[in-house]
Amino acid sequence: MMEYSVYPDYVTLSKRAAELVIRHIRSNPSIVLGLATGSTPIGLYARLIECCVNDNLSLAEVTTFNLDEYLGIPNDHSQSYHVFMDEHLFRHVDICAERTHFPGGDLSGAQYEQLIAQAGGIDLQILGIGANGHIGFNEPGSPFSSRTREVALAASTIQDNARFFDDEGDVPRHAVTMGIATIMDADQILLIASGANKAAAVAAAIMDAPSENIPASCLQQHRSVHVLLDEAAASQLP
Ligand code: PGA
Repeated sequence: MMEYSVYPDYVTLSKRAAELVIRHIRSNPSIVLGLATGSTPIGLYARLIECCVNDNLSLAEVTTFNLDEYLGIPNDHSQSYHVFMDEHLFRHVDICAERTHFPGGDLSGAQYEQLIAQAGGIDLQILGIGANGHIGFNEPGSPFSSRTREVALAASTIQDNARFFDDEGDVPRHAVTMGIATIMDADQILLIASGANKAAAVAAAIMDAPSENIPASCLQQHRSVHVLLDEAAASQLP
């Protein structure tokens, strides 16, 4: 079941998303979280940090699995998702480094899936959505049966992510990502989207018949998806 809520702006959306995640962590301190990177979850992570610093939230028992990581740049590159997570969440909270995981590196896709299974599966997966409807780096055309694997980035994703690099030519062309089926295995999913450039993808994901051309549309077939949007991202919904 997919339900969506619309908030007036990014700040309110981030606050509500954080409240939901914090409620999950408080009710299950050893929760397994699937984590997303990108501009969208930055506000949510900032609120989690605030809650750890000011309000006794602890991530000490939490296990995390990130959705994806670029290939072809080192883990300590300023634009790697390892560095992103460190800067926007991990270094500010009491999370245990040994319980944070990323695909790629020495791990095969199958080994990453095995680690997730050994942890008991993902309880709550946080997702963003690409302007082309991707989730993780599952670009349009990704099979709904896909698992963690190496993928080529879509040309539009390379353009979208060029803002973080000195030059579009520096954007990695490949990544490792959880597959659609990996994401669909999560017990609950929280998708957040902000801004008018996401409106078409959001509307297609929620309203169109599920299709591999809009990877996020797979979520219609999941038992528990909560979509949090700001008004701009919701502007093409009825
Ligand atoms: P963004 O990326 O949060 O930077 O817009 C989302 C995504 O591509 O999944």
